[in-house]
Amino acid sequence: MIAKVEPLTQARALRGPFDYRVPDEMDADVGSVLLVPFGRRRILGVVVETAERSELPPEKLAEPIEALAEGVPPELIRLGLWAAEEYVSTPARGLALVLPPGTGTGKLPRVRARTALRAELTDAGRAALDGGDRLGERQREVLAQLLDGPVAAAAAGHGTLRSLERRGLVCIADARVERRPEILGVGAVGGDVQLTAAQAAAVERIDAALDAGAGSLLLHGATGSGKTEVYLRAVADTLRRGRSAIVLVPEIGLTPQTAARFERRFGDLVAIMHSKLSAGERFDEWARMRRGEARICVGPRSAVFAPLPDLGLIVIDEEHDASYKQEGDPRYDARTVAERRAEQAGAVLLAGSATPRPESFELLERISMPERVDGRGLPPVELVGMTGTSGPLHTRTRDALESVRRGGEKAIVLLNRRGWSNFLSCRVCGRVWRCPRCDVSLVLHQGARRVACHHCGHAEPLPSACPDCGSVSLARHGVGTERLEQELEEIVAPLPVFRLDADVAAVAATLRRFDSADSGVLVGTQMVAKGHDFPDVTLGVVVDADSTLRFPDFRAEERTFALVAQLAGRSGRGKRGGRVIVQTLDPEAGCLGFAAAHDAEGFLAGELERRRTLSYPPFATLIRVVCSSEELGPESAAAEAIRDRIDVGTVLGPAPLFRLKGRERAQLVVKAADRAAAVRSVRAAVEEVASGRSRSGVNFAVDVDPQ
Ligand code: ADP
Ligand code: ZN
Ligand code: ZN
Repeated sequence: MIAKVEPLTQARALRGPFDYRVPDEMDADVGSVLLVPFGRRRILGVVVETAERSELPPEKLAEPIEALAEGVPPELIRLGLWAAEEYVSTPARGLALVLPPGTGTGKLPRVRARTALRAELTDAGRAALDGGDRLGERQREVLAQLLDGPVAAAAAGHGTLRSLERRGLVCIADARVERRPEILGVGAVGGDVQLTAAQAAAVERIDAALDAGAGSLLLHGATGSGKTEVYLRAVADTLRRGRSAIVLVPEIGLTPQTAARFERRFGDLVAIMHSKLSAGERFDEWARMRRGEARICVGPRSAVFAPLPDLGLIVIDEEHDASYKQEGDPRYDARTVAERRAEQAGAVLLAGSATPRPESFELLERISMPERVDGRGLPPVELVGMTGTSGPLHTRTRDALESVRRGGEKAIVLLNRRGWSNFLSCRVCGRVWRCPRCDVSLVLHQGARRVACHHCGHAEPLPSACPDCGSVSLARHGVGTERLEQELEEIVAPLPVFRLDADVAAVAATLRRFDSADSGVLVGTQMVAKGHDFPDVTLGVVVDADSTLRFPDFRAEERTFALVAQLAGRSGRGKRGGRVIVQTLDPEAGCLGFAAAHDAEGFLAGELERRRTLSYPPFATLIRVVCSSEELGPESAAAEAIRDRIDVGTVLGPAPLFRLKGRERAQLVVKAADRAAAVRSVRAAVEEVASGRSRSGVNFAVDVDPQ
């Protein structure tokens, strides 16, 4: 048999597949990972196809050295190669998405199954214990210990075991040791609840889709409408039909409650994937799914590639969340990959959100759950204009916080900017502290006593004087979460204030502390607006709600709407009810009005109409190409060359982007109705220009469906 092998390599230029002759005694098929000779090296490769014969003469065909134990299901090989095509990447990088965790690109996988010697009692051993065999005290002890089941040899003592083995009383063999992640165990335990009428109707619709083995559904449910319970039932119904399920969630560190609910309901059938797992745990969870022992995978975007056989359902929780898009190559969107995989497997796709993307609202079949489970209304939202006010908080906000303090209640305050202040300048000469590698100003972090770049990580100690003129009079502009935290402490003391943003290391612990506190304020970036279920929050505040609106991006409205509506959804989930205050420079902004009225349908209808008129997704596909170089010039020349070669849709640019990590950048945006043709054309253009001799210092990044 001939195996067509795609080498796992970082090099973009090296493209397989290459033919190898598989000897009869070797176990290799599509999806096998092989160690193969390659020139004078040995490298890992993946079998992407098999054939009877090769075009090459037999003497040119080498044989693989070894087939690794863990291979990939063939349908995932197809999915990985598809992702490579769809997101203009390389086959090796597409395949890396579906390989066992830790396979890498080296000569050997970095992670493998772990085994250890285990001792087991034999029948003779059992008889020896019962009968009067002559046994030493220690030997008798060890045998008795084995009555409860096999034990790791190391724990029982090798010397004693070996002597028992020689007498045939125990057998010792290599057995696989499973590295299992710790159980999450956070949040309230939801028992077996009686479904509301809306939940029951949703489950019924999903069951019908499961029976049909097809369907792309959008569960559009208000915050607190009980979507998670619907997912849990849908997963149970999937298992009952003998199939498996993937549940995609935004980063688990931020929303451990949802993942924990699955773990509690389904126990060992759940494999949980998240960034805190060790390499070994990740590998073993993968293997548990591959063997069919775990039949539910809960995890972030990469879980869409989980090796579950007989997939019947893919759930995408909080489907509007930006974390579903991968920022590095391949820049895949897990929501699009999920659609593709569901279609391939005959599985049902179930996306859920209170603030769905316009794309999903338009293209998926809608199931609506407009009411909260407890029959409580959504909290009233008040928009307050900030023009002419000084300081970060409006008097109405201060009053509301004051009443939280008096009543010993809880509040969540959102400001989507971390650090102390936006930037620092010299009052005398006007110097602004800027990043030496990026064209942006440095953000002041008071706690860490430094100024830092939020794009490349460059940081400097907090200056005490201006290096240009020596003045010690430095001005701090704008407000970030750090400064707001201090301001809030002054208002609500003695209630505790908890801060949550990317500068805080203990995210889960902070959430837990806020949850278990009797009263207090949680302040932070968009992290505080994720799907948390804190029952007793009575006040939600959005500070500078239009900060996201000032981005020159066609998704600015959608983002702002989602952020405000999601934050509002955290408030008033308990007996005391709740309210929301949204501070903005522009109280007339359309998306804020819709968010204040909890009118997602109204917002989406208007947004879709706008997108249809302007030919934005979902009515067209966007592809972004960014060229970068150290010097100013080559990047825009390369972008122009690419533009001239693209022959579909409209091409906007090249437009300069701010310098990032020491690289000048130019951007093109391609807008086209025919997605496949656009991807093909951009790929061809980029590959041709990138291979040009004069482009050696230029880097190319292609982003299909940029966020
Ligand atoms: P969503 O994800 O739609 O915002 P959740 O799934 O977090 O809503 O549910 C909100 C709360 O309601 C949770 O505490 C959950 O345990 C509870 N809940 C869900 N369904 C029911 C039900 N049918 N009856 C009573 N409580 C429910
Ligand atoms: Zn100065
Ligand atoms: Zn920088």
